[in-house]
Amino acid sequence: MHAVADGCGAGEVWLVGAGPGDPGLLTVRGRELLAAADVVVVDRLAGAMLLDHAPSSAEIIHVGKSPTTRSWSQEEINAVLVDRARAGARVVRLKGGDPYVFGRGGEEAEACAAAGVPCGVVPGVTSALAVPALAGVPVTHRDAAQEIVIVSGHLSPGHPGSTVDWAGLAASRATIVVLMGVARLMDIADALLAGGRAEATPVAVIERGATPAQRVLRTTLDALAVDAIAAGVRSPAVIVVGEVAARDDAAVDLTRPLAGVRVLVARTRPRPGRLAIELRALGADAVETVVARPAPAIDAMAGLTEALAGADGLLFADPDEVGAVVSLLRRGGRDVRALAGLTLAAADARVTAALDALGLASVTRAGLAVGSPRSDGRVLVAGAAEAPTSGDWSVRRVALLTDMTAEPDPRIADELRHGDFDVAALASSTAARGTAELYGPLPPDLLVAAMGRRSAEACEAAGLRVDIVPAEPGVRPLAAAVADFVTANRATRGPA
Ligand code: SAH
Repeated sequence: MHAVADGCGAGEVWLVGAGPGDPGLLTVRGRELLAAADVVVVDRLAGAMLLDHAPSSAEIIHVGKSPTTRSWSQEEINAVLVDRARAGARVVRLKGGDPYVFGRGGEEAEACAAAGVPCGVVPGVTSALAVPALAGVPVTHRDAAQEIVIVSGHLSPGHPGSTVDWAGLAASRATIVVLMGVARLMDIADALLAGGRAEATPVAVIERGATPAQRVLRTTLDALAVDAIAAGVRSPAVIVVGEVAARDDAAVDLTRPLAGVRVLVARTRPRPGRLAIELRALGADAVETVVARPAPAIDAMAGLTEALAGADGLLFADPDEVGAVVSLLRRGGRDVRALAGLTLAAADARVTAALDALGLASVTRAGLAVGSPRSDGRVLVAGAAEAPTSGDWSVRRVALLTDMTAEPDPRIADELRHGDFDVAALASSTAARGTAELYGPLPPDLLVAAMGRRSAEACEAAGLRVDIVPAEPGVRPLAAAVADFVTANRATRGPA
């Protein structure tokens, strides 16, 4: 639950490190603050996936460069942080890596202090250390390197504004980690060679580290510039110079079948879904967007009141159904005590947790089968759960929720228009209809994957061409079918 901005000036700013790109590398504290944010101010490097942790009501302000938006000046960013906080908002300033490692976080903290706005920092996993590690390069090693120097390559070594002692670094045995150095690779290599680092010094260049699109170039200092040009190295990349750059320890294999593939996952429930998790496990950059949300069905209240009257048990298909029952009871002037005497059952662990949070004990669906109070017990099933298996219960279903199309997300619409997605994954007919309604017609080269026959039919009825349908419906088969399709396509087209 988060306080709504009330204009009383009690706002605050949190500088939160987003980590190097893998959404799993955001800190727990960072995630908590995101979940309570009224406003999130985000750069392009700070993974869009992390915005899923913010409430859907939060205002998202993109201040990084993108093909479609201008980039903001530091003064404008400072001003928006201060203004929103002064208006009472909890502002999360989400910054790639760690906020204070070349992130200009210090300037933002200063601007807040000068304006009298409370400002806190949540350190992040910096790309300077994490990106080499994930690519197999430990930045220190007892035998090879006992110091690390993290350097900005933003200004070239000869630049009058540069405060970096390149000659000193060249003469040392330190591991040199260069950020923002891609544009100045040749000058940096020259400066280090001129200062006496050996030509054969190992170098690793890791592009888009900690993401499925990661590429690693291994070379030596004398060949760095030529090899980087040949490989077409682009920013963002971390350059590691030193003995450790030749090591390959515990590298994380990011080259999974869907590496580099961006998938739009249409969600019909507010919670992150399993499909995105499965797709990410295969390496995809899965971006979830809500295309429909559950809302109380017409007559749900009357239906519930009437159905409860004769019931002995109540089985919830998912946590939304729990929420629906509670809010319908409250709306009818009652509360959870109206469920007294009923055996409550949970279709899965999330439902158990939702009931627990209300102080309500429950059994599993299997437990319901065992726990029939009478031979003619009647169980109500809220939502699309499988009915209990025991013959002792007579089953009745209540429709409490119906799916309402959500509002379109302008960021998603923008990215679709620019061809930033490769695949749209539609796990239900509701997802198919919602996607078509909010974002149709989809770009012709976007692949559409449907969960099964029914969702494929819904796609076709909504004017979406379907490219991928798994043999068996299911979240895992759908993710696997997308991977198979992409792999087969890559094989016929040759390497990209
Ligand atoms: N505060 C950030 C760094 C900001 S400077 C941090 O702590 O990580 C931006 C530079 O960081 C980029 O030019 C690049 O050198 C590096 N960088 C950030 N994310 C990266 C990634 N996923 N892969 C490779 N380099 C990355």
